[in-house]
Amino acid sequence: MSISQGLVRILLFVFTAYWPVTPMARAQASSPVAKKLKIYISADMEGVGGVVTADQLGPGGFEYERFRHFMTNETLAAVRAAKEAGATEIVVSDSHGNGENLLIEEFPKDVRVIRSWPRHGSMMAGIDASFDAALFIGYHASTTNPRGVRAHTFSSAHLTRVALNGNAVTEGEFNAAYAGALGVPVIFASGDDAAVEELKSRLGNIETAETKKSLSFHSAETLTPEAACERIAAGVKAALARLHDFKPYAIKTPVTLEISFKNYMPAQMLSYLRTVQRIDSHTIRFVGKDMTEVSDFVDVVDGYSPDLAP
Ligand SMILES: [Zn+2]
Repeated sequence: MSISQGLVRILLFVFTAYWPVTPMARAQASSPVAKKLKIYISADMEGVGGVVTADQLGPGGFEYERFRHFMTNETLAAVRAAKEAGATEIVVSDSHGNGENLLIEEFPKDVRVIRSWPRHGSMMAGIDASFDAALFIGYHASTTNPRGVRAHTFSSAHLTRVALNGNAVTEGEFNAAYAGALGVPVIFASGDDAAVEELKSRLGNIETAETKKSLSFHSAETLTPEAACERIAAGVKAALARLHDFKPYAIKTPVTLEISFKNYMPAQMLSYLRTVQRIDSHTIRFVGKDMTEVSDFVDVVDGYSPDLAP
């Protein structure tokens, strides 16, 4: 630095430090325009603390009613943490099983909850480009992961692999790509150790909360519900404190989707559609112009049955 540059800097410092602040500038500083912060929360159940088998996961399971509370509480922990971090609008999607798990009366009045199916966007229904960030609660590992409690991708009964642009994905990665296409980054995920490790390996350094350690498909060493909620709240706060660090997870378009079925017939039948290519005995390929089209296609494959009623 030259002497003259140094002088200029000193003069600038004196000028800015002692220049009288105008009333307008003072008003702006003391009452900043409220900044909007829209948060989307997608809540699944397999990754909720304590969940290990179907006994917790659906109506008819002897522990389901209690675990609806636990899923609700983990989601509420994220809601409260987001509000404390300045969230001005929160949408929660109930994205497990029948989509009717969360106890909606437990939520603050200004939260909106998306329930049941079918719905465009599936586990991300209702998200759009106006959201600032997305959070995943209760997520699980993919069907191609040899570890993870209840590891599956969209359907444990029917699918053995779902891939985007040649890479097998988790539901979390698929949903992150859906949000990413809208410019919304996923900044936090909770679930078992396998789920968070798998998601981090794909989405980068997002904040996570490990609710349990997977011991097998149907066993885990788990945190208590209260401890899981505390960990989730801390993770959501940490993520929102560095919101500017995260980038939307955008994948190349058009998007090539591959779905492998457990059975032979779905692949054969779907290949009758001219937009579908059968690439091996159990696998079909579909190319969508974007994630919206790919998501709708998955919903039809997963949700359509000629028995549908009404
Ligand atoms: Zn689920």
